[in-house]
Amino acid sequence: MTGWVRNTAAGVEIEIEGSPAQHDAFENALQYTLPPLAHVTSHICTSAPLCREKSFTILPSGEGGADVHIAPDSAVCPDCLRELFDPADRRFRYPFITCTNCGPRYSIITGVPYDRPATTMAGFPLCPECMIEYGNPLDRRFHAQPIACHRCGPRVSLLSSEGKIISSHDDAVILATELLKDGAILAIKGIGGFHLAVDACNNNAVRRLRQRKKRDEKPFAVMAASQSTAGKLAVMNEMENLLLSSPEAPIVIVKKRLESSLSPLIAPDNGWIGVMLPYAPLHHLLLRDNFQALVMTSGNISDEPVAFEDADALQRLGGIADFFLLHDRPIHVRSDDSVMRVFQGKPLFYRRARGFAPRAVKLPFAVQPLLATGAELKNTVCLADGTRAVLSQHIGDLQNSAVFESISATVAHLSEILAISPEQAACDLHPDYLSSRYAEKRALPLLRVQHHHAHLASCMAENSLEGEVIGIIFDGTGYGSDSTVWGGEFLVGGYDEFRRAAHFRPLPLPGGDSAVREPWRMALAYLYQAMGEAAFSLDHPVARILPESERGLFAQMLRRGINSPATSSCGRLFDAVAALLNIRHRVTYEGQAALELEACAELAEGAYNACVPYMFEIMVQQPVQVDFSSAIVEILRDLTVGTGVSVIAHRFHQTVASAATKVCLRIANDTGHDRIILSGGVFQNRLLSEMLYTGLSNAGLNVFTHRLVPPNDGGIALGQAAIAGRRRG
Ligand code: ZN
Ligand code: ZN
Ligand code: FE
Repeated sequence: MTGWVRNTAAGVEIEIEGSPAQHDAFENALQYTLPPLAHVTSHICTSAPLCREKSFTILPSGEGGADVHIAPDSAVCPDCLRELFDPADRRFRYPFITCTNCGPRYSIITGVPYDRPATTMAGFPLCPECMIEYGNPLDRRFHAQPIACHRCGPRVSLLSSEGKIISSHDDAVILATELLKDGAILAIKGIGGFHLAVDACNNNAVRRLRQRKKRDEKPFAVMAASQSTAGKLAVMNEMENLLLSSPEAPIVIVKKRLESSLSPLIAPDNGWIGVMLPYAPLHHLLLRDNFQALVMTSGNISDEPVAFEDADALQRLGGIADFFLLHDRPIHVRSDDSVMRVFQGKPLFYRRARGFAPRAVKLPFAVQPLLATGAELKNTVCLADGTRAVLSQHIGDLQNSAVFESISATVAHLSEILAISPEQAACDLHPDYLSSRYAEKRALPLLRVQHHHAHLASCMAENSLEGEVIGIIFDGTGYGSDSTVWGGEFLVGGYDEFRRAAHFRPLPLPGGDSAVREPWRMALAYLYQAMGEAAFSLDHPVARILPESERGLFAQMLRRGINSPATSSCGRLFDAVAALLNIRHRVTYEGQAALELEACAELAEGAYNACVPYMFEIMVQQPVQVDFSSAIVEILRDLTVGTGVSVIAHRFHQTVASAATKVCLRIANDTGHDRIILSGGVFQNRLLSEMLYTGLSNAGLNVFTHRLVPPNDGGIALGQAAIAGRRRG
């Protein structure tokens, strides 16, 4: 075919001449046979008059500043991997092998334009051999900025926990493998930060890591040696396999095999496990032929940010790791591993970070340059300009001061490399969110966006929806327009405005934040709502946790709302039921009770009677309220007659799904809308999502879920950006 190609401000423009069959083949190739790191967000085809071109040429870039796209970090490609294990190759066992098609990008870029001097490879001048590859247009390493070899590039070394160098180069890698085989805990420097690693099949080593990391129950992720090994640890479908082996190399949450050789301490009381494949060449060198899998958990203590700088890692992880496997290629930007799961045959994000940031989401309309600062927990920020909205990598929980300090660095770095200087800002309506405080400090016109409105807009934006929709937003906590805590919401609206069409019946959150950490408090609040004072004399563990002397005070708190803000939270309802079923009275990490309740319910899938919903009440008023008091009473009765907890848990899930479907149908009837958005942290729950999705689809409604950003607060910033951008036009 003949014609030309050029970069323009809007993207890439290609003119080609050829037969219709050739055109079809070309268009198809443009979508399905791209180079590994190329990514087409959308394309438009139009016909043009014939110009009888004689050849195909690359024209100089068109007018205007082009949108700058910085590639995410990408797993080592098959070609590099082959060379890595080829004794005849000059990069045999070189831990930093990379080419145009793979390797670190976002994590090593220090500025723009993207050239070697503006990366953390600046300190490694190319040797003559590498230089030849770099300059040869026919070479796979033509203009690949991070390339290097044994002679000119970064090196690994193994250090004691006190920071003394024990070994370097390949010897360090070999020794590290031996130490891991002996059950040692290693801190390993990767692409976006440090991991803490142990042999995943060595129970004692996993136990030691748990004790040292002070992480008693939260599941560990594992890195399987290969795709086939992963298949021995977990049952995976085609989509899960595809995600696992993608260049983004996320952690994929998959069904654990019961008969696997993994330590049971990796994900206790959980049928699921987070698995990823080696993505840095160093990971392959450590794992291949040595281990089935390694635990590769983030290198931090509890809620602190993951360590990514050598000195900081040695200091903070010195008490956990026995040894450190370091290298001298600095990590400029910290990013955690991304975490995903497959829902309805498509990927669903839990955490969006390495491999995906800073890939843009295309907005359905153009916006002025702006910054959205997200929520307080699972924080991400969003920079948008034109139709491109770039969500940062997962930053973390801002209540941790070290995490909060990293927000301004992330914003500054992103706006520099993306060439976006925000002219306005958006933040959450919550006045005390640290993300809102951060936004206030920027001297920009500021729009405060209601939390669940942002959830709604986030899901609309990534699905390119316009107009009005119905949003089922099931969430933990969000500041409502009426200053109460929302979270079980049915909203009607679009980017411009919304109204609260229905919500869960509010009840007091006894003790405020402590009710989030102690689900038994929510159980007692629900029991009190359902049966009044009688709740305190029930023969049930949640009623006995309080000493007799404090019961009066607790009852008063509930009655008068002292230190007990009203909440319609769906997350808290799940907490309450988890406590009621004695699955968990206190949590050690966010979402734990709900997660375990879901795991428990899954055991009853297919069981007789498990799908019969409990009673609930829809109170017709403005807005409509959904009351689960009768369900709580029925659950209590089921417990007393000895019904299995997993059957109860399953029936409870069905109850929430049925209630939501019913309310949604009523709203659809009233408004004539048939597009339903599912968003909010509760939609990390696969069982509930599936029940609700099925219920709504069977009723003839069009259901839209998150695919590109997380349904939890990690996706909020995108919604804030869409709402603020739309307002300003
Ligand atoms: Zn490569
Ligand atoms: Zn070299
Ligand atoms: Fe939320």
